[in-house]
Amino acid sequence: MTGVKKWTSASLGITIEIDHDKCTGEGECIRVCPTSVYKLENGKSVVENIDNCIQCCACVVACPRGAIKHSSCG
Ligand code: SF4
Repeated sequence: MTGVKKWTSASLGITIEIDHDKCTGEGECIRVCPTSVYKLENGKSVVENIDNCIQCCACVVACPRGAIKHSSCG
Protein backbone atom coordinates (compact mmCIF):
# COMPACT_ATOMS: atom_id res chain seq x y z
CA MET A 1 0.00 0.00 0.00
CA THR A 2 1.65 3.21 -1.11
CA GLY A 3 0.61 6.74 -1.90
CA VAL A 4 -0.87 9.42 0.31
CA LYS A 5 -3.55 8.21 2.71
CA LYS A 6 -6.02 10.67 4.15
CA TRP A 7 -8.24 10.70 7.21
CA THR A 8 -10.76 13.36 8.17
CA SER A 9 -12.62 14.12 11.39
CA ALA A 10 -15.93 15.77 10.69
CA SER A 11 -16.44 16.64 14.35
CA LEU A 12 -13.01 18.29 14.75
CA GLY A 13 -12.77 19.64 11.22
CA ILE A 14 -9.23 18.30 10.74
CA THR A 15 -7.40 16.20 8.19
CA ILE A 16 -4.31 14.03 8.62
CA GLU A 17 -2.37 12.75 5.61
CA ILE A 18 0.38 10.14 5.72
CA ASP A 19 2.56 9.59 2.67
CA HIS A 20 3.09 5.85 2.62
CA ASP A 21 5.84 6.24 0.03
CA LYS A 22 7.83 8.03 2.76
CA CYS A 23 6.66 6.17 5.88
CA THR A 24 9.05 3.42 6.93
CA GLY A 25 7.04 2.30 9.95
CA GLU A 26 9.52 3.47 12.57
CA GLY A 27 6.58 4.39 14.77
CA GLU A 28 7.73 7.76 16.09
CA CYS A 29 4.21 9.15 15.64
CA ILE A 30 2.84 6.26 17.67
CA ARG A 31 5.35 6.91 20.46
CA VAL A 32 4.80 10.66 20.70
CA CYS A 33 1.06 10.93 20.18
CA PRO A 34 -0.48 11.54 23.63
CA THR A 35 -3.90 10.27 22.61
CA SER A 36 -3.11 7.09 20.64
CA VAL A 37 -4.31 8.32 17.27
CA TYR A 38 -1.93 6.09 15.29
CA LYS A 39 -1.21 2.41 14.90
CA LEU A 40 1.02 0.31 12.65
CA GLU A 41 -0.59 -1.71 9.88
CA ASN A 42 1.47 -3.77 7.47
CA GLY A 43 4.59 -1.81 8.40
CA LYS A 44 3.05 1.63 7.86
CA SER A 45 1.53 4.15 10.25
CA VAL A 46 -2.19 4.61 9.87
CA VAL A 47 -4.74 6.76 11.70
CA GLU A 48 -7.01 4.74 13.93
CA ASN A 49 -8.63 7.30 16.23
CA ILE A 50 -8.60 10.70 14.57
CA ASP A 51 -11.38 11.97 16.85
CA ASN A 52 -8.93 11.64 19.78
CA CYS A 53 -6.56 14.20 18.24
CA ILE A 54 -5.78 17.26 20.39
CA GLN A 55 -3.92 18.99 17.52
CA CYS A 56 -0.61 19.20 19.38
CA CYS A 57 1.46 18.62 16.20
CA ALA A 58 3.92 16.30 17.96
CA CYS A 59 3.50 13.65 15.26
CA VAL A 60 4.36 16.05 12.45
CA VAL A 61 7.49 17.20 14.27
CA ALA A 62 8.56 13.70 15.30
CA CYS A 63 8.32 11.97 11.93
CA PRO A 64 11.90 11.51 10.68
CA ARG A 65 10.64 11.12 7.09
CA GLY A 66 8.37 14.16 6.96
CA ALA A 67 5.57 11.82 5.99
CA ILE A 68 2.77 13.37 8.07
CA LYS A 69 0.71 16.41 7.15
CA HIS A 70 -1.88 17.77 9.60
CA SER A 71 -4.35 20.48 8.71
CA SER A 72 -3.73 22.22 12.07
CA CYS A 73 0.06 22.04 11.86
CA GLY A 74 1.63 24.26 9.25
S1 SF4 B 1 -1.46 16.28 16.41
FE1 SF4 B 1 -0.91 15.41 18.45
S2 SF4 B 1 -2.77 14.37 19.17
FE2 SF4 B 1 -3.01 14.74 16.94
S3 SF4 B 1 -2.31 12.86 15.96
FE3 SF4 B 1 -0.54 14.26 16.06
S4 SF4 B 1 0.52 13.72 17.99
FE4 SF4 B 1 -1.55 12.83 18.09
